[in-house]
Amino acid sequence: MAKILFANTMIFEGTNKDLVPGEVLVQGNRIQAVAGPGETLPREGCDVIDAGGATLMPGMVNTHCHLTYNNGTTVAELTALPVEEHVLLTMHNAKQALDMGFTAAVGAASAKPRLDIVIRNEINKGKIPGPRLLAGSPELTVTGGLADDNQLDAKHPSVSIICDGADEFRRVVRTMIREGVDLIKFNNSGDSFCYPRMAAYDNPMTEDEVAAICNTANNIGKRLAAHAHADSSVRQCMKYDVEFIFHASFATDETIEQLERVKHKHYVSPAIAARYNTTYEAKDWGITTDVAEMIGNKRELEKGIEVMTKMHKAGIKVLPFGDYGFAWLPQGTEARDLEHFVNLFGFSPWESLRAATAYGGEAWVGKSGEKMGRVAPGYLADILLVDGNPLLDLSLLQDRNALLAIMKDGQFHKPFQGRVAAGQSLAAE
Ligand SMILES: [Zn+2]
Repeated sequence: MAKILFANTMIFEGTNKDLVPGEVLVQGNRIQAVAGPGETLPREGCDVIDAGGATLMPGMVNTHCHLTYNNGTTVAELTALPVEEHVLLTMHNAKQALDMGFTAAVGAASAKPRLDIVIRNEINKGKIPGPRLLAGSPELTVTGGLADDNQLDAKHPSVSIICDGADEFRRVVRTMIREGVDLIKFNNSGDSFCYPRMAAYDNPMTEDEVAAICNTANNIGKRLAAHAHADSSVRQCMKYDVEFIFHASFATDETIEQLERVKHKHYVSPAIAARYNTTYEAKDWGITTDVAEMIGNKRELEKGIEVMTKMHKAGIKVLPFGDYGFAWLPQGTEARDLEHFVNLFGFSPWESLRAATAYGGEAWVGKSGEKMGRVAPGYLADILLVDGNPLLDLSLLQDRNALLAIMKDGQFHKPFQGRVAAGQSLAAE
C-alpha cells in the first residue's frame, strides 16, 4: 500500500490553539502516524512530500450543505430546473465543494428527492469528484409550512414534500429511506423566507407529526436534521434525538440549559450567512436591510447571534457553514462562515477551525465509530495543505489558490506542486 509522508509542515490537528511543526504519514486511506516537533518518521517506502512549511490540517466538513442549490434568487428558479440539468448542477457543485477544501458534507435537504442520493453514489464509486456525502431527503413540511408556497388556485412546484398527519409523514419517511437517503430533514419551524404567513419562532408541526417522522427514522437507524428556529422546535429535537439542529435562533435560556446537559448528542448549525448576508449584502437582488427587517430576517440574525454566543460559551457544539447556494451567498464561498463565527459569536480563530474540522468530522460520522476531522493516528486521511497560517488569517480558506493540496480518503484530489506565494499563484491563474 502506498505510503505518503508529509514533511516540513505546521500542523493544525483539529483541536489545537497553535500550529505545531511536524510530519504526517498516510498509508492507504488513513493517517498512520504523526511526529511532533523535533521528531521524524521513517522514510522507507514512502513518497516524501516536503511541504515547505505549509499548514497541514484536516479537510473541512460542511454539516449543513445544499449541493442541489443553484445560486438563484428564488426557490422558483430552483424548481424550474429540469431534473437532467439539476443532476449536472449538483455534480458540478460537488466538485467545487471538494475544490474548496470540503472533504465531507451532510446533505441538509435535497431540492429533488433523489439528487443527493445519486450524486453520493457516484462519488462513492469514484466516478465523480466530491466530498463524502450523507444524502439528505427533501425537506418535509406541513401544508403552509416553510417551502409550501402553493395557493388554492395557483400551484407552485416545491423543493419540499408536503404532508399532514403522522401517517403521511411515516409513509414519506419510509419512501425516502427506500430510495436511499442517509438523513431525513424536516421543518418544524417557520422562517423569514415564508413571510408573511409564518414567522421563524412559530412551529407548525404537531407533536404526533414530529414523533412519527423521528421514530420512523430512528427505528431504522437513519439520521435526522430539523429546520428548527423556534424554541419548541429545539425542544422537540432534544426529545426525539434529532442530531442536527439547524438555526435554533429563538432558543430560550432554559432550552439552552437543557441542551447543555445533552450537548454530546447534538450539533447546532445556525447557517448564519443566510441571515447576515441576506440582511446586509442582498440589496442588489432587492433585499435591502429594510426588507430584511420587515420579513424578520434581521431579527433572526440578531437572535441567532445572541443564542449562538450563549451556546458556544456553554460548550454546545455550534458548527459553521450552511444554506449556501443563493445569489448573495453562493456555493464555493462557505469558508467565509469561519470569519462570521469569530466576528459575530466571539469564537477564537482556532475554535472556528475546530468546529469546521474536528467537530464537523465527529458530527458526520455519528455513532458509526469512524474517525474523521483530526490529524491523528487512525483518522481518515482527509487533509489540506494551506499556503499560510489560517489561524492568523481565516480568509485563506476562501482562496482556492491557497489550498496547495487536497487529499480525500488518502487520494489526492489536488496534488501538491510546491509552495508558491499567494500573489504568484494568483498571477498564474
Ligand atoms: Zn438549510
